[in-house]
Formats: sequence, C-alpha cells, structure tokens
Amino acid sequence: MRALLFDLDNTLYPEANYFRAIFSQFSQNEGLDFERFAFLFNDFDHIRFTQRDIFRYALNQAGEFSETRHQALFELFVGIKCELKSYDGVQELIDWALAENVRIGVLTNGHIEAQSNKWNGLALSGKEHIHFAPARLLGADKPSSLSFEEMMIQMGCRAEETLFIGDRFTNDIEWGLNQGGKGALVNAHEKGEGVPSFESFEPLLDWVKR
Ligand SMILES: [Mg+2]
Repeated sequence: MRALLFDLDNTLYPEANYFRAIFSQFSQNEGLDFERFAFLFNDFDHIRFTQRDIFRYALNQAGEFSETRHQALFELFVGIKCELKSYDGVQELIDWALAENVRIGVLTNGHIEAQSNKWNGLALSGKEHIHFAPARLLGADKPSSLSFEEMMIQMGCRAEETLFIGDRFTNDIEWGLNQGGKGALVNAHEKGEGVPSFESFEPLLDWVKR
C-alpha cells in the first residue's frame, strides 16, 4: 500500500464540533443563549444528514429566524476561526504513514470554502505533507469518479495501491474498491459488505500495519 485517502467530516474529526463552534460564536454575537440551539447536538449526525439547510432549520426551531441571522451563520460556516481536535489515534496513523513514506490525501464533499476552513482548523501535525482537496474543486462531490480520478493524479498514485478510509461506504470507499483498491470504515455511519469497519483509529492502525 502506497497511499491513504481519507474522508474529512466524521472520519478525521467529529463534524458536530465545527457546528458547536459556529452556534457558540453566533449565540455570543447575537446575545442569545447557546442552550437555544443545544437540541441540534442531541442527534447532530441525523439532523445534518436530513436537513438540507441546517441553519434555516436551527433558527426556525429556535424561533429566531431572520435573513440576516441566516447569513451570519453562513459566514461563520465558511470562515469561523476555531481549532478542531482530531479523533484519538488519527495523529498516530498519520505519523506512521509519513514515517513509512505512504502518501496521504484528504478528499471531502461539501462547500469548498467551508471544507477548506475546517481543514485549516484541524489540529494535526504534518498537515503540510498531506494533500487536501475539496471534491467540488476537482469536478464533483464523491462518489463521482471525477474527483477521485483527479485526486489520484494529483497524489501521483493509483487506486490499486491506495487504502480508502471513511465513515460512509458509498461516498468514501466504493469507488476505490471498484478500481482494485482497499477500503476501511471508521466511525461508520453507513457500512458496506466486505469492508472492515473499526470503532476507532487504534484498531485501524493495527490492521493497517499488518
Ligand atoms: Mg464523512
């Protein structure tokens, strides 16, 4: 295996923490109690996946909607300055890969500016050696082959020599498997047949090292 290609949200860090930072800053700016938005974080991953516009939904649910506030949340979404802690064991896997000269990439779906801002906020050492790209910048969100193919070119490796790591089988892993690569799920939100699924990065690292 010569390369690792990671997903970002809910693979390297919990995306709920990015939205916690946004709503915390927003509440402070607007003089609102953050608790008004606490309901979002009881089942964040479900709400995030099912609500097309989470900011409109949150403001409406809290009875605080205005276009100005909606815009203010979006501006925080693309540009908030915050530090995001990676999941336990991510740094160890990155360190191992760098020491082994395994190339590392991160390919992520979603708004180009927001995804870049999350990546900038992610606390991880060795990031300068990791090739980061928002999939839309490479042509289309995953699982479209456009962004995967372009990413492989930019990383200078082939899918057959790459391990694809993510929390969603269809978006993060399936394309790689179909090209003869390997896959592993971590913190899986959606599993897939024939792919090992890990609860955390420690057992994933043990498996990668084998
Ligand atoms: Mg994800």
